[in-house]
Amino acid sequence: MTPEKEPFSRIVKTPSGKTYRIEFDREGCIGAAACVAADPKHWIMQADGKPNLHEATSEGHTQTKTITDAELEDSIRAAEVCPVRVIKIFDEEGNQIAP
Ligand code: SF4
Repeated sequence: MTPEKEPFSRIVKTPSGKTYRIEFDREGCIGAAACVAADPKHWIMQADGKPNLHEATSEGHTQTKTITDAELEDSIRAAEVCPVRVIKIFDEEGNQIAP
């Protein structure tokens, strides 16, 4: 058994006014729906068995959306539970902060 991860240890609890970017590679998604369970406000399952990132901008197979501090915790949770790691979160400097 592997030790429990601490997926939320990087979260800033006090609102900082910073924004973050979610990037979703929909082509790589296998429809496991873990993201929908973890963050139902952002991940909406579609008829083809894969979710869309709510109100995202689409370019090819990639969906992107800017979020605030208040949305970060749930978004990180979705990125951490995705078994194929097609949900990525970046800070304003372009550093990947999840998964
Ligand atoms: S958890 Fe990952 S693989 Fe599963 S539906 Fe969400 S994005 Fe797709």
